[in-house]
Amino acid sequence: MAEYRKTYRTFSAGETTALGRHIAQVLKPGDVLALYGDLAAGKTTLTRGLAEGFQANQPATSPTFTLINEYPGTLTLYHFDCYRIKDAREILYLGFEEYLDMGGIVVVEWPQKIETYLPEDTIRIRLNRSESRDDVREITLELPEERHVNFGC
Ligand code: ADP
Ligand code: MG
Repeated sequence: MAEYRKTYRTFSAGETTALGRHIAQVLKPGDVLALYGDLAAGKTTLTRGLAEGFQANQPATSPTFTLINEYPGTLTLYHFDCYRIKDAREILYLGFEEYLDMGGIVVVEWPQKIETYLPEDTIRIRLNRSESRDDVREITLELPEERHVNFGC
C-alpha cells in the first residue's frame, strides 16, 4: 500500500499538544491512530492535544492501569494503552473491535502489542526523542494514500 509520510519536529510538550489539536481537525469518525514510541516519547501528550481538539471536557491522561479511557467530545476519543497487554487477544476482551465501529476516534499506545487487530487503514504515528536535546521530539505520520490530501501533505 502506498503511504505518505510527514515529519514534524516539536520543541516542547505544548507544541506536541498543539500538533494533536491540529491533527484532530482532519480526522474522521472511525479513524484509528496507532502511536508508536518509547516511554516518554510523547504519546499521551499528543493524545491530550487530540482530546482538546475534540473539545473533550477533561484532559486526557494515561490509561496505563485502566487500559482504556473514553473522552466524549465533538467526536468521542477512545484511548487505549496496550503497554501491559501480554497476549494480543486481551484487547478483544476489552471490546476493541466494537470500539472500532462506534464512529469515534480510536487511539492506541503500544500498538505493536495488538498489531494483528489494527485495521488496514490505521494512521500510524511514530514519536522519537532526540538523542541530544531533551525536549525535542520527531513525530512522523504515515498516512494511507487516500488521506494525504486531508493532512495537507
Ligand atoms: P508517553 O505517553 O509516550 O510515555 P508522555 O506524553 O506521557 O509520553 O510523556 C512525555 C514527557 O516528555 C512529558 O513529561 C512531557 O512534558 C515531556 N516532553 C518534553 N518535551 C516534549 C515534547 N516535545 N513533546 C512531548 N512531550 C515532551
Ligand atoms: Mg503514555
